[in-house]
Amino acid sequence: MRKTLVVGNWKMHGGKAFVESLLSDLKSLGPWSSDVVVCPPLPYLAQCERLLSGSPIAWGSQDVSAHNGQGAYTGEVSATLLKEFGARYAIVGHSERRTYHAENDQLVAAKAKAALAQDLIPIVCVGETRAEREAGHTEAVVQRQLGTLIRNLGARIGEVVVAYEPVWAIGTGLTATPEQAQEVHARLRQQLLAATPAAAQVRILYGGSVKPENAAQLFSQPDIDGGLIGGAALKAADFDAICRAG
Ligand code: PGA
Repeated sequence: MRKTLVVGNWKMHGGKAFVESLLSDLKSLGPWSSDVVVCPPLPYLAQCERLLSGSPIAWGSQDVSAHNGQGAYTGEVSATLLKEFGARYAIVGHSERRTYHAENDQLVAAKAKAALAQDLIPIVCVGETRAEREAGHTEAVVQRQLGTLIRNLGARIGEVVVAYEPVWAIGTGLTATPEQAQEVHARLRQQLLAATPAAAQVRILYGGSVKPENAAQLFSQPDIDGGLIGGAALKAADFDAICRAG
């Protein structure tokens, strides 16, 4: 019922030649039965538009401003501007932004709302730290993060993508087991369904050290609808294998 979605988060990795070669490799490897998205650093968005238009690969940003249109917001990029380059998705509230840029639940919700106002699909990240998991607070943390989003988006919550990314699994090589991830995804699904029946359609991605070797097992869980992929999205063969795991 929900089509698998695989999103590559390139983080701060790039180079014009790198982007050209990664995208041409991916184009030759696709299409896939999953929906596939790449999120490059912003300077490469126009290059993605040029290279990916007409291909099965969509593109998006790794962040978006909470302000729309144009304005005096130095360093910010609005959904309005992203749309001009054909972006369809925006990652919002990634743990690296929450940690290094002090983004809180309220700001993350405002960013998701700004994205939706321009019909950009927000991929909203939630997840607990290792200390929070060890203290038994996983459920409370992700429910608080998702709860703020639900309160701010109202009925439009049915239009987002949610990414569960345990912070301790990001870039560490430690992956949540499919059962650990499924347990959290099922809770998130319940919380979404309590807000709107449309949440049955919301795709909940897992992120955190997804690799070709573990993707199929993760994606086979009933509430895991795909992945948000960091390191493995930088290698065409690995990303292709993950896209095929759906
Ligand atoms: P990783 O990153 O796949 O390198 O762990 C995932 C993410 O941060 O989105």
